[in-house]
Amino acid sequence: MTAQLEDKIALVTGGGRGIGRAICLELAARGATVIVNYKSSAAAAAEVVTQIKAAGGLAKSLQTDVSDADQVAAMFKAIVSEFGTVDILVNNAGMTRDNVIMMMKPADFDVVIETNLRSCWLCCKTAARTMMRKRKGSIINITSVVGIAGNGGQTNYAASKAGIIGLTKSLAKEVAARGIRVNAVAPGFVETDMTADLTDDIKEKAIEAIPLGRMGAPEDIAKAVAFLASDDAAYITGQTLVVDGGMVM
Ligand code: NAP
Repeated sequence: MTAQLEDKIALVTGGGRGIGRAICLELAARGATVIVNYKSSAAAAAEVVTQIKAAGGLAKSLQTDVSDADQVAAMFKAIVSEFGTVDILVNNAGMTRDNVIMMMKPADFDVVIETNLRSCWLCCKTAARTMMRKRKGSIINITSVVGIAGNGGQTNYAASKAGIIGLTKSLAKEVAARGIRVNAVAPGFVETDMTADLTDDIKEKAIEAIPLGRMGAPEDIAKAVAFLASDDAAYITGQTLVVDGGMVM
């Protein structure tokens, strides 16, 4: 453990699996107390907490559907009442429901926007209230290179992720004077459950398009998030840091 984020309270949405899990472990390794949010993966979130505690850190898991405004309000109330504040918010929870637009149902669009974009807005709004009072805070929103470059079959997902970039820039301008920084991280093609179902053929083609020649690991994304959360990024706000092995440039 290092002391870089000591005394910081961090909330990571969707922290039980994949990229969120790696972010929880990285922030904890840098000294933060981590609240591991999950929706359905209770055992996985509990395992992240156990791992953090075994390494001498502090963590707690918290079940919340972050697309639900009432649940988000209750989550922040519980965190502030137990820990006093939220210093670092990582909006990582996300999902895909891919299809070509002719086959995509309005419900497929709505659920992806609600899970990826609305949740991000709700958590930003609620965290900003506490952070403004403290006149400090760092918010990191997980977008995607798909929100920058687009991707056939992902009109819903790309719209949600492009929305996150606009949200990030707008909020960064709104709260900078209150000492709050808001940035986004745009992963490329990362090895998690989200990409596990893709065929070997699709994966091979994707890797061919990555100059660094490999898929990203969740830890690659986590290190970028931890940097933006820390005072090393004290003069960085409103930015989207692309972590994609050079895939989109
Ligand atoms: P993943 O392994 O499928 O994990 C998704 C996470 O989101 C899970 O922890 C899940 O929690 C959580 N989640 C989904 N809906 C939620 C809700 N309503 N409330 C709370 N949590 C919810 O995906 P991943 O690859 O780690 O992706 C993490 C983030 O990175 C996402 O925003 C994704 O869009 C983005 N991203 C991923 C890639 C990639 O290649 N993998 C590339 C670019 C961007 P439960 O399991 O508890 O339901």
